[in-house]
Amino acid sequence: LKERVAEREKNRALIQIVSGIAHEIRNPLTSIKTYAALLPRKKDNEAFQQQFSEVVPNEVDRVNALIENLIDYVKPKARNVESVHVQDLIQSCTLLFLPTINAHQMRLEMSVDQTLVIAVDKNQMKQVIINLILNAIEAVIDMRQYATTAEEVIAINARKEACGTIIEVIDNGVGMTSDELLNMFELFYTTKAKGSGIGMSLSKQMIEENHGTIEVRSEKYQGTTVRLIFGGEL
Ligand code: ADP
Ligand code: MG
Repeated sequence: LKERVAEREKNRALIQIVSGIAHEIRNPLTSIKTYAALLPRKKDNEAFQQQFSEVVPNEVDRVNALIENLIDYVKPKARNVESVHVQDLIQSCTLLFLPTINAHQMRLEMSVDQTLVIAVDKNQMKQVIINLILNAIEAVIDMRQYATTAEEVIAINARKEACGTIIEVIDNGVGMTSDELLNMFELFYTTKAKGSGIGMSLSKQMIEENHGTIEVRSEKYQGTTVRLIFGGEL
């Protein structure tokens, strides 16, 4: 059952990610097509050659990175603890949501210490961070019915403190009342019309399996900070 529940939440994140990516793949395809069409006529033009050799591989790489990370996210894998670079971990997650974030004109702020390494199951951590980003995006969108936020911001920070390595996902979205905050980790607790109430419960479980802790601070109509802490020595 636990696995089926996890699968369902993964599907929800996937729908969001895939529709963003499908949208985003069209842009690089269009520019590749344009360059391909110009090739016979302009192949001897040096400026064109220069642009072609820059733009086309770049666009292909971008699409490939999205797809590779997507495959990595859906592939079933055995639990496997390894040294994970926090920066890489975060980037592989944000990459998946960039199309969605851009389409909604939200701002993504990243402040990540590049030297951080934690001993965790990479795929579980990816799943947690993807859940948190998805919730942050949904919170920011949900806020639109109450107020016009000058700038919708999702911030991701990672740094080392005395208590350990900290990863934060912060949004200035709809926030939670103290009651909602108390319930948010309950399985199937959701305040969303199309919510499943699985993400946070699953995330807490996965964080604890990886010897981390999860803390949430939130203020209704102000925003939310979710903080993951991976303690002590490495
Ligand atoms: P779901 O997203 O399907 O509702 P979750 O388990 O991910 O389920 O979250 C449970 C509930 O916790 C949400 O319905 C929402 O009320 C609250 N919540 C979680 N993350 C946030 C956030 N970033 N901002 C505001 N509320 C949140
Ligand atoms: Mg959720």
